Amino acid sequence: MSADGFETLAIHAGQEPDPTTGAVVVPIYQVSTYAQDGVGGLRSGYEYSRSANPTRSALEECLRALEGGARGLAFASGMAAEDTLMRTIARPGSHVLIPDDAYGGTFRLFARVLAEWGVAWDAVPADPEAVRAAMRSETVAVWVETPTNPLLNIADIAALAGVAHDGGALLVVDNTFASPYLQQPLALGADAVVHSTTKYIGGHSDVVGGALVVADPELGDRLAYHQNAMGGVAGPFDAWLTLRGAKTLAVRMDRHCANAEQVVRLLAEHPKVGSVLYPGLPGHPGHDVAAKQMRAFGGMVSFRMRDGEQAAVELCARTRLFTLGESLGGVESLIEHPGRMTHASAAGSPLEVPGDLVRLSVGIESADDLVADLRQALG
Ligand SMILES: *Cc1c(COP(=O)(O)O)cnc(C)c1O
Repeated sequence: MSADGFETLAIHAGQEPDPTTGAVVVPIYQVSTYAQDGVGGLRSGYEYSRSANPTRSALEECLRALEGGARGLAFASGMAAEDTLMRTIARPGSHVLIPDDAYGGTFRLFARVLAEWGVAWDAVPADPEAVRAAMRSETVAVWVETPTNPLLNIADIAALAGVAHDGGALLVVDNTFASPYLQQPLALGADAVVHSTTKYIGGHSDVVGGALVVADPELGDRLAYHQNAMGGVAGPFDAWLTLRGAKTLAVRMDRHCANAEQVVRLLAEHPKVGSVLYPGLPGHPGHDVAAKQMRAFGGMVSFRMRDGEQAAVELCARTRLFTLGESLGGVESLIEHPGRMTHASAAGSPLEVPGDLVRLSVGIESADDLVADLRQALG
């Protein structure tokens, strides 16, 4: 199995034909409990669907294989996955380093929820020297996203793994923007990968979900214990939709990346655009690291409007094919204003984003249509 390529794993890992009927797709086991053969005699290892469910098990094995980890776990949302991870690896009195441009929901989890539980945090640039300087004896985790949301900064996963491990901490990578097809953090030394499977892995804007994949089986067991104890699990239908999405992840990502390059080409030379934030551009500060650790540069593109915040807000209202909306990673293209939408909760904090910033999730429609839409909207 481990010799199989990514595309093969996406379609087959954890997904044997159904033992009863031969169905080639894992069924939606829409069930809460399982008949037992005598007290304590489980037929197949399943007793109650919070603890385990066959559809979810298939997704968890597929995600494990795609990230090359020891254990995969599927949750009701990316945030449920993050919270379960932190309640497992941190304690009151622990300290965590988070990126200074973290996803807004991640920032809120640390700043408003985990802080109340007694977990201290500092927001630092995901730069090895800055992280090394901010490590404390109580630091249990260095948390990074790469590329980041929405500024598309790049963190050097291998370098940060070294810094985190020197300080006795785990390196956690939110791999939502890259997806396991473009980047595999565990192979670069990370200890845990977090996903919002709502985004590229699900890929069709029809399901909310999250995942954890870890390199250490013992940590995997502790996380599975907490997943069951806290209960933020993915339901059977959500797991099935996510598994269905994962099958086409590779071909979708190739098209997302190709379309993003076309969009970047337009934006980079447009007079209304001040700067384009895309790791595929040679002038991007993270370009070399991204080229080293990613297969391609992804489908997310951010840019700053030369004429400021009002121009950015107006642009978001003028696109026709790019739908104005939060979220990302689906087949359809989306546009949003992070300062007033996804990142509004970071206003006034060190994670506040520039008002002239626009974020695109470039979908897999015809590239010519996407470029034409942006051209008309920019005017
Ligand atoms: C969306 C997102 C999350 C949160 O995931 P949900 O599925 O919305 O709970 C976490 N990290 C990143 C980078 C995201 O884009």
